[in-house]
Amino acid sequence: MHPAWFVSTAVLTSFCALGHAACPEPVSLQLQLSESLICVVMDDAVLKKEQPLLRTWIDRSARIVADYYGQFPAPLVLIRLRGMDGSGVNGGRTTNDGGLMIQMRVGRETSAETLAADWVLVHEMVHLALPEVGRTHDWLAEGLATYVEGIARAQDGNRAIADVWAEDRNSMPKGLPRAGEGGMDQSPSWGRTYWGGALYCLQADIAIREQTANRVGLQTALRAILKETGGYGFESNIGEVLRIGDAATGTHVMYGLYQQIRATPQTPDLELLWTLLGVPTDPLTQPFDDRAPLAAIRIAITAKPTSPAAPGSQAPSVPKN
Ligand SMILES: [Zn+2]
Repeated sequence: MHPAWFVSTAVLTSFCALGHAACPEPVSLQLQLSESLICVVMDDAVLKKEQPLLRTWIDRSARIVADYYGQFPAPLVLIRLRGMDGSGVNGGRTTNDGGLMIQMRVGRETSAETLAADWVLVHEMVHLALPEVGRTHDWLAEGLATYVEGIARAQDGNRAIADVWAEDRNSMPKGLPRAGEGGMDQSPSWGRTYWGGALYCLQADIAIREQTANRVGLQTALRAILKETGGYGFESNIGEVLRIGDAATGTHVMYGLYQQIRATPQTPDLELLWTLLGVPTDPLTQPFDDRAPLAAIRIAITAKPTSPAAPGSQAPSVPKN
């Protein structure tokens, strides 16, 4: 078969079938999620045989992210899967070089159970929701992906709420500055980038909820940022992005907190924070304290919004303690 003919036929077929967009190359499978098209390319014969399993995994991940943001965060994304020995998913990478693409490796012996609990693809899909704001602010992109992955999965019942808080409690200390380190824009270490960024998200989420009587949180800000910027397919700057988020919540939390941490190392008292939230030392075995001062905020963070949240809407309305 002539390659050029094959490509054009594949493109034509997917265009006719879907009406909106077309996959940029012949694909092994494609998923339509509302207005979004997810094109999946596999280079591995063993993986190609597992298409139903992989479709379920990709569909589940995409729905979790779409539920969190109120829409899937890109009109078209190419997912390129490479096979590897053994079980599991790794090597996730999201790029925008001539089109949005998520690359990852999938073990040829990966079970349905492993795929059902996978976090990597959800993390990568969250990257699609933030515009490119520059390498200096990688901590914002990775922090959001790290923070939102757990909460979005918990909201959809794909991850235990206690497990999300257990990971936050165990891992957020890795995001605190070490001796000699500067502010967030000056400290590209792994710990600061992923968990320092996630800590910024948690602090922002709590502060937004404190200032809005727990009516809205970071999720409302992130939905607005996606809607107004178009997500990772576009470039923006961090100040503009954070101001969009603040306008959506009617606060100055995201930009204000950024000003505090961008060039100055901050070491918040995490033990005090967990106590205020009512998160026990070992969330997997000990009860949460629902009478703690910020317990209502903790509960609202992992609760699924009942409607697209906006200031003044009916979305999770828990009284502030
Ligand atoms: Zn990432």
